[in-house]
Amino acid sequence: MESNQNTDLKYYIETWGCQMNEEDSEKLSGMLKRIGYYRTESKEEASIILFNTCCVRENAENKVFGNLGALKKLKEKNKNLIIGICGCMMQQKGMADKILKKFPYVNIIFGTHNSYKFPEYLNRVRSEGVQIKEIFDKETEIIEGIPVDRESSLKAFVTIMYGCNNFCTYCVVPYVRGRERSRKSEDIINEIKELVSKGYKEITLLGQNVNSYGKGLEENIKFSDLLRMINEIKGLERVRFMTSHPKDLDFDVVEAIKDCDKLCEQIHLPVQSGSNKVLKEMNRHYDREQYLDIIKKIKSEIPDVAISTDIIVGFPGETDEDFNETLSLVKEVGYDSAFTFIYSRRNHTPADKMENQIPDDVKHERFNKLVEAVNVGVINANKKYENKVVEVLVEGFSKNDSTKLSGRTRTGKLVNFIGDESFVGKLVNVKVLRAQPFSLIGEII
Ligand code: SAH
Ligand code: SF4
Repeated sequence: MESNQNTDLKYYIETWGCQMNEEDSEKLSGMLKRIGYYRTESKEEASIILFNTCCVRENAENKVFGNLGALKKLKEKNKNLIIGICGCMMQQKGMADKILKKFPYVNIIFGTHNSYKFPEYLNRVRSEGVQIKEIFDKETEIIEGIPVDRESSLKAFVTIMYGCNNFCTYCVVPYVRGRERSRKSEDIINEIKELVSKGYKEITLLGQNVNSYGKGLEENIKFSDLLRMINEIKGLERVRFMTSHPKDLDFDVVEAIKDCDKLCEQIHLPVQSGSNKVLKEMNRHYDREQYLDIIKKIKSEIPDVAISTDIIVGFPGETDEDFNETLSLVKEVGYDSAFTFIYSRRNHTPADKMENQIPDDVKHERFNKLVEAVNVGVINANKKYENKVVEVLVEGFSKNDSTKLSGRTRTGKLVNFIGDESFVGKLVNVKVLRAQPFSLIGEII
């Protein structure tokens, strides 16, 4: 329907990186819609092109450079095109200048701490024709009330805290997202209530380290208290959260999952490595035995819980023995899913300065072995669902097979099954007939 709108008022937005960035983009989109713009999925049609960037790994950065280069032709065709670039990459020292030098046709550059000012920047570029580069070094107070244009009308991300204080030695996030700040519980609860009144059924609470929620707030509140408060919201069906840091996962959170009907049986617990030596060098503050102990307790307390993780291969100094420890941990846990990463050197992080950087070919070889090991676990975990009845929140028709509906279980498994449009947005019981590597096939009962 948006194709009939004025081309001058169309924007295109592209997002790299994590859910946190996706949520930021939903806010940028919300601000643009509030001032009268319409979204388009075509760069050619847009009068504003905005890239929300990620710098957690080098390949995400390279993609942004490639995409910016490709905009040159569009800018030549349409002199009024406004190109904006924002997000984590911009918070890195010298990056904005590097971009302006390489791509002088970029109109607006801003960082993660001042994205709420985007409409003002846009207005100045349009009215004064200036080029804007504004990046705040430090985090600001949390700005509430920014309009959000969400991708889904069923599931929503709700950020509960910003920033990170952990300084894992490989990671750039604390440098580009600033220190930990929690939102007031009242603001979070009000946002969720409003979402529920609009028909949202599922929310995912976001934070780099959700278990630190509440630190620094005037109110005396822990993450598990917040979870219990959210569980009381009428009309809400499901609550998920990410990310938990193994060093901070208190058992009152596990208790809350057991006690609260809306909290889904799913925990994302990044391990990063199975080797104690590497974990120490990564500054993770737990060891393999402690991690496995937590997993054991979670599994014994929450039957059929799904556990997912993040793992890095090729951290500086990682030996074959260290890597084998990671493989054996993966086998022991049997993850339901895992995000696997090749270590990427990030400027200004301690790991970048470490000796014994691992050659690329070794990293790739280990990565392939890791993916294989993860997949074995994932397939076994999926097989356990065969012949079971699961509750599915129906999201719509499957992207790969439009004859089937698609949705997720409470544990986050993707399920496809035959059904009509009337089920969309509803919770249905589905019997799983067959497990596939990355999804389940079922039938409504
Ligand atoms: N706060 C979350 C996630 C942060 S970034 C956590 O602590 O788990 C998401 C994932 O990216 C990390 O868990 C890590 O596995 C990966 N990552 C971060 N920096 C990386 C780097 N320099 N190279 C490769 N992977 C990295
Ligand atoms: Fe990065 Fe570690 Fe913070 Fe996660 S906890 S964002 S990996 S520094």
